[in-house]
Amino acid sequence: MPLDILTIGEALVEVMRTDIDQPLDQPGPFTGPYPSGAPFIFAVQAARLGMRSAAIGSVGADAFGQCLLNQLNMDGLVTDGLRQLPDQTTGVAFVSYQADGSRDFVFSLGAGGNLSSDMLLPALFDGLRCFHVMGSTLSMSTEALNVCREALRLAVNAGALISFDPNLRPELLPPEEARFAFAEFMSAATVLLPTAAELLQLTTADSIKQAVDNLLAERPDRTIVVTRGTEGCTVYKANGAIDVPSYAVDEVDPTGAGDCFDAGFLSAILAGTSTVEAAQLANACGALAVTAKGPMAGAKARAEVERFMASQR
Ligand code: ATP
Ligand code: MG
Repeated sequence: MPLDILTIGEALVEVMRTDIDQPLDQPGPFTGPYPSGAPFIFAVQAARLGMRSAAIGSVGADAFGQCLLNQLNMDGLVTDGLRQLPDQTTGVAFVSYQADGSRDFVFSLGAGGNLSSDMLLPALFDGLRCFHVMGSTLSMSTEALNVCREALRLAVNAGALISFDPNLRPELLPPEEARFAFAEFMSAATVLLPTAAELLQLTTADSIKQAVDNLLAERPDRTIVVTRGTEGCTVYKANGAIDVPSYAVDEVDPTGAGDCFDAGFLSAILAGTSTVEAAQLANACGALAVTAKGPMAGAKARAEVERFMASQR
């Protein structure tokens, strides 16, 4: 059966400090491993919203890789895209949270950084409805970028809706290089999910309005959703723009907000809802994502997201 949603990128587990303000440069307690990696958080959120979903990526043939695989199986994802490499270890992100809301990371990308053409199984692309790519994945390495370009061509040929979230990570790739690396994905995408800062850094425009106007002129069938953290998001289409307010929640762990937002938006679009309703569901998924500790703990099932939305009306 064809997939609704496919993505590709870094498979990871996260190991986090047990409390806030425990720096990573001193001994201290950790909790984890928790299944993670932005594309995998995205794919799990899509599955919990009822989509037939998969992510392409690599783990080691070790216990951490098994931890991620177990989670994907539990959530009913198609796991054919997850490869276990016998000679590599699973990627790990060590994370500490500060009282001011900032995060510190130590990354060991390991197998997570390993993408290759032979992972692009035809069965994952046959009849595919939506292909979503994140800039963070394109920023990992030239090899990863090239494999994602090949995947993009397969998805375009399959007639899939193409979605792109720039997820700019300047520490991996400076914005001026990212602009070049992301160009093919930016122009192929009919759904773009940037933050305002990313939009300005990735285009030559000097205002959001100009950036959006240029992108809409290039592809009038396009939807641009600019995420604005606690403010919610703004949806731009050729026929106008609309602000869609967020939901008020207590932020516990910001990891995964953007990924869950993306999955919420695309799941709703694929289900045939209006862009504004899709943005509302996306805001709810993004808000719920920050209410739980653990990268995938805030990705809620459809019924729970709908209950939350009803309770906030
Ligand atoms: P990420 O670091 O995950 O890539 P991002 O910077 O791309 O995040 P944000 O704009 O921070 O994306 O968050 C995405 C969406 O999640 C927001 O548009 C909003 O709907 C929701 N969201 C994020 N943080 C909060 C919050 N504290 N309260 C309510 N909603 C939030
Ligand atoms: Mg983001």
